[in-house]
Amino acid sequence: MTAVLAIDQGTTGSRALIIGHDGRLLGSSYRELPQYFPSPGEVEHSAEEIWESVRVTIREALEKASLRADQLAGVGITNQRETTIVWDRHTGVPAGPAIVWQDRRTSARCESLRGTTDEALIRARTGLVVDPYFSATKIEWLLDRHPDWLSRAEAGDLIFGTVDSWLVYRLTGGRVHATDHTNASRTLLYSLDAQAWDPDLCSLFGVPAAMLPEVRSSAGDYGVTDPEVFGAEVPVAGVVGDQQAALYGQGAWSADTAKATYGTGAFVLLHTGDTRRSAADGVLTTAACGPRGEFAYAFEGSILIAGAAIQWLRDGLGLIEDAAESEAMARAVADSGGVYFVPAFAGLGTPWWEPRARGTVVGLTRGTQREHLVRATLEAMAYSTRDVLDAMTEGRPDSIDSLRVDGGATRNAWLMQFQADVLGVPVHVPSAAELTALGAAGLAGLQTGFWSAPEQFLPARGEDRVFEPDAESRSAAEAGRAGWGRALATARYWAAGVRGDE
Ligand code: ADP
Repeated sequence: MTAVLAIDQGTTGSRALIIGHDGRLLGSSYRELPQYFPSPGEVEHSAEEIWESVRVTIREALEKASLRADQLAGVGITNQRETTIVWDRHTGVPAGPAIVWQDRRTSARCESLRGTTDEALIRARTGLVVDPYFSATKIEWLLDRHPDWLSRAEAGDLIFGTVDSWLVYRLTGGRVHATDHTNASRTLLYSLDAQAWDPDLCSLFGVPAAMLPEVRSSAGDYGVTDPEVFGAEVPVAGVVGDQQAALYGQGAWSADTAKATYGTGAFVLLHTGDTRRSAADGVLTTAACGPRGEFAYAFEGSILIAGAAIQWLRDGLGLIEDAAESEAMARAVADSGGVYFVPAFAGLGTPWWEPRARGTVVGLTRGTQREHLVRATLEAMAYSTRDVLDAMTEGRPDSIDSLRVDGGATRNAWLMQFQADVLGVPVHVPSAAELTALGAAGLAGLQTGFWSAPEQFLPARGEDRVFEPDAESRSAAEAGRAGWGRALATARYWAAGVRGDE
């Protein structure tokens, strides 16, 4: 066997990558995915278009690598999490659109659960918070809108899955209906302690158990691909949600290792090993992978706007020509001139979870220049990451020995140094870009024996560029955090006022 295939089915598009035994990328292909916005706050995909984009990218990636499907040791899948699909078990035809994780149509239902004993039950069992992101209220919404679906769902004729399950089902020609524990842990229906679907939560949301996929290990047996799909029976052997895949691909598979992905938003995951630790308010607990894909726990935090604030400086304000320019501009001034920018365009995430917060700039003077605002925007990413890690570690971010990072904004060396200074721990930037796909490939490769130990594919991360905290700039960063704290308080005060107006 020559290679492993990784499928990375993301919100904006699908990517297929062929990875060789030494971790080298042999071929890849990408397709954008159409987005549908039927009304404000609603976001949908077509389940058929998701599948079609995956099918096409697999074929193209194989062509680019000059390989046939029968030369593949296995397939690993990583995916946008929480997105909800319901389809007919017998025909494979989707019953409706895929409701995407970003979709807010179930906000009112979630509001109605706040402050109830059900909310406490959900938090205790699932480690999540009540929010429209997660799958359960989306399934409930679909079943409510289609009264004729319930009896078919109870009979197991109409089935539910997140995108991973949908792809497994299609890849195996409809023979396997399964998911992995990382994806299951994002549905609001899965008990982290029992490591199984939770009957109380299923009944709370009116989801018949017969609809649910079987939960397997992230490195596991998910059947073989139907030869009609791409010409050979290849084991589907790895399934893992995108953030957990990045954590695993970064080699963070034991307690107190952590990663941050800085894209449009930023996601921080801290591995807590095989014990569930109690989480501070606003921090999610989620299932992750141990060294061979086995069940483990992690804390998760979301920063809703990260690189998107840099895009706004470029497209909204025209202050910079491209994102890369932000680095030179931040270096051009000694500090942010007392300016703080909280880019809460869409509310605040971990640990505040304040949907009404909005972007806030404080500290402007007649001497403020655009360089100061650009620098304040980058600083906000680093301060927010510190806030998330503080919430996860009871204010002791140095209890982790390093932060492994990936995503577009890690190209900014000034930001990475500032992040190390703000955290007081080294920041490691791998040279490989596709850590998420590498995680899925790694799991599939281990399961099929293509790799015998995780250390064998890790070199694919490439050489790390390491940013060590600098004693002098550390104290300046620490002083800056006080101002950041006040700026955040201002943004939250504004949000409280908005609430008071209603
Ligand atoms: P996503 O997967 O969310 O689309 P990417 O990982 O591709 O995101 O990262 C893109 C984001 O990174 C953009 O929001 C962009 O503004 C930001 N970005 C890219 N280069 C830089 C840079 N040099 N400095 C700061 N931010 C950057």
